[in-house]
Amino acid sequence: MKKSIFFILAILIVVELKSQIYCLDNNTEGEQINQVLNPAKSISTNKTVRLNFHFIRKDAYSNFTESSDGMGNNYNGYDFTRDLVNYMNYSQGFNIQMNIPSGNTTPVLAKNFNYVIDAVYFHNNPSLYSYNSGTSLYNLYGTDKPNVMNVFITCCSSGGWAPNTSQTSSVKFTESGLIWKWYRDWVNGGGAIPPPQWAFWTDGNHLCHEIGHLLGLNHTVLFPNGAACPTNIGNTCGDDCGDTPSAADMIHVYGSSVHPHCGFNNVGVGCSNNLMDYSNYNALTPCQIEKVHSGLENGLNPYTTCYAVSVDNSICDLGYPKLSHFGRNVIIGGCSTPPYALELNEKVDVYFSQSVEFFASEFTGSSQLEVIFENTCNF
Ligand SMILES: [Zn+2]
Repeated sequence: MKKSIFFILAILIVVELKSQIYCLDNNTEGEQINQVLNPAKSISTNKTVRLNFHFIRKDAYSNFTESSDGMGNNYNGYDFTRDLVNYMNYSQGFNIQMNIPSGNTTPVLAKNFNYVIDAVYFHNNPSLYSYNSGTSLYNLYGTDKPNVMNVFITCCSSGGWAPNTSQTSSVKFTESGLIWKWYRDWVNGGGAIPPPQWAFWTDGNHLCHEIGHLLGLNHTVLFPNGAACPTNIGNTCGDDCGDTPSAADMIHVYGSSVHPHCGFNNVGVGCSNNLMDYSNYNALTPCQIEKVHSGLENGLNPYTTCYAVSVDNSICDLGYPKLSHFGRNVIIGGCSTPPYALELNEKVDVYFSQSVEFFASEFTGSSQLEVIFENTCNF
């Protein structure tokens, strides 16, 4: 009896380790072969993933709000989120040659996937303000969970995490204790407000890394300073991609029996510039790119904008917290319970694949509405 209880506990512990991806440490493995669940039909067809952002606050001076940066400056959470996602899409717009293995000729392919802000929310919740609240935030505040990946920005740690890399799981969220912290450090260091685009490389690549997990990518290697894993066992050792840097590759470059402890902005000897390592750089290999596209064509397809414009949508409230609306045939307004107007400086996009119909709608202040045609998924 004792043995079987121990066995069950051991299984539970292994499941726990495999189901949560923390992003501070580094790991080991031997060479692997590419394993993609379903071959991608088209890695050249652009795919856009919908994101919700949630800023968790504990008082008026903690994290972004609807009207400020939480530090007394006139730079609000909507503008910060737009700047952040603009950087993420800039970073997704190019790829770089892998630095490990040295001299590799791995093709540098276009990534052809990016992100759009669906909505931005602000929550005053002192008990969940500090980083690492498990699934509490997702359970409490997760919105449009089957179709939008939820990003929770808490305070203030050296990491972020994503709960799973499964391309069939519908639990898609990430929590970061870095994004607000890095902004706060920037302001306290005398940085310009708003920060210039390059200053978003820390937050932007960090979030691309975390969402990389949600899209099916594992770290290329795991534990720090360890010996190479003896076998090629899935995400406990590596990432099921033969073209990403393995622990053996890193050890070879490092010239040691263990591989280096790689961290932020470290692409030195033995540390890689892969998005799914720890340097905050953004290289992706053909195997990783195919994995993402394969996921978005199959189990993760409901998170794409091309899927979102295949379903009719009737919008009563056009404005914030939503920044983007999607639908095949879209009806705006005409509801029995206004408000459906835009006001102040709200900027909202409507994406449609067939038609947009307006009932009486009011636009005041410097509000802007952009209506954009988008094709339904063609893969
Ligand atoms: Zn990670």
